[in-house]
Amino acid sequence: MQTSSNPHAILLASPGMGHLIPVLELGNHLAAHHGIDVTIFVVVADPSISKSRLLGQTTATLKPVNVVLLPQVDISSLVSPTASVVAQIAAMMRAAVPSLRAAISVMSTPPTALVVDLFGKEALVLASEFNMLKYVFVTSTAWFLAVTVHLPSLSEKERHEHRVLKKPLKIPGCRAIQFEDTLEVFLDHPNQDIFPEFARLAFEMSLADGILVNTWRELEPSTLNELLHNKAFGRVTKVPVYPIGPLVRPVRQSLESDVTAWLDKQPKESVIYVSFGSGGTLSAKQTIELAWGLKLSQQRFVWVARPPADNNSRGAFFNSTSSIQDGTPDYLPEGFFTSIRGMGLIVPMWAPQTEVLAHESIGAFLSHCGWNSTLESMVNGVPMITWPLYAEQKMNATMLAEELGMAVRLGPREAGTLVEREAIKDVLMGAMDVRHKGGQKLMGPPRGPNSEQADV
Ligand code: UDP
Repeated sequence: MQTSSNPHAILLASPGMGHLIPVLELGNHLAAHHGIDVTIFVVVADPSISKSRLLGQTTATLKPVNVVLLPQVDISSLVSPTASVVAQIAAMMRAAVPSLRAAISVMSTPPTALVVDLFGKEALVLASEFNMLKYVFVTSTAWFLAVTVHLPSLSEKERHEHRVLKKPLKIPGCRAIQFEDTLEVFLDHPNQDIFPEFARLAFEMSLADGILVNTWRELEPSTLNELLHNKAFGRVTKVPVYPIGPLVRPVRQSLESDVTAWLDKQPKESVIYVSFGSGGTLSAKQTIELAWGLKLSQQRFVWVARPPADNNSRGAFFNSTSSIQDGTPDYLPEGFFTSIRGMGLIVPMWAPQTEVLAHESIGAFLSHCGWNSTLESMVNGVPMITWPLYAEQKMNATMLAEELGMAVRLGPREAGTLVEREAIKDVLMGAMDVRHKGGQKLMGPPRGPNSEQADV
């Protein structure tokens, strides 16, 4: 980057496309609308991935932003192979700090601000070393942020009542978290490694110069109000919270793909888009039930399909782009392809999602309810059918179905329960029926202020 008189911000993205995509978008936004020079450092879990391939999956408008892939680090000696995904990402981020430090120390324009995503807390130490302001970017809801910052204040008794007695967990200013929707951090994990990571995160956030969160006031008024003003959140109340959402990738108008070409031939609002995010996977049995459920529903669909992973709902988390391959998935049931001809399209591993959701043929989105996917659906006015898998997705699904009235539920309420093809068929048919009759419930996703992003 050439020396310039603009302020220079460093953004750090942790592994996983669901983390990288919003950080890239924030970088674009800061560079394009706020005259800030931006360098984005990316920690990748997959050493085989190249920068162009990684960015090819994300956005085409990165001209003002400098993107640097940090050298991949081997964490096999740092965490146990059975460690939670949260602990594995945290270990990668800790291991990346020295190379980030080295990169910053040779920059021609000294950076003035460091913005990290949730897992980037490990790097916040560099802010004081290089005299930078430090910000945490929460790529999720204010509800999730509130839970995170409140977590260290929860008593043993409250946690026990939630985990063991399955009582709802009360967080100031928010809808209580039902046990079925709870976060991994509140459950027993064999390695007991998630709670300490979150407690440290809450502590680091309380020392930040600001917290950016990808939501907006009209969407979560009481939670944001509570976060900004309520003493219940202790020290974090002193940290400014900036609701900067909805920050989503713009549609690449010039992008041509087999999916959009297929969608061009379908009637308006007739197609259900099915995707479980960048890393979500179903069990082998559930994949087969979903296939036949789609077929039985007699609805048109585009399904971003992945090889099943039993006992691991984020089987593709660390390698969702590197495994993109052509060819027919062999894990789908015998005869399925022939039976859906003309009606359904299977896309292996990865689809250009923002372009798909913006297409006028899309009528509904069967989604794992990751927050980026949710926002992409909202800004395109696409109602959702929820199938949450991990992280805070169950909370998102509840918010969408019960608070915002923009989704119907489909995925299992209890992990490991099989949703059978008939149930899938019924919900899909019902959702599309409501949509076509112009029903109230599924029709009105709340857009951001004038559908434009709020000022950062
Ligand atoms: N995505 C995509 N194509 C796919 C799957 C996912 O472009 O086939 C993008 C999607 O548009 C979103 C991100 O990957 O921006 C996934 O983020 P989200 O928060 O929804 O879920 P996560 O992957 O973090 O679980």
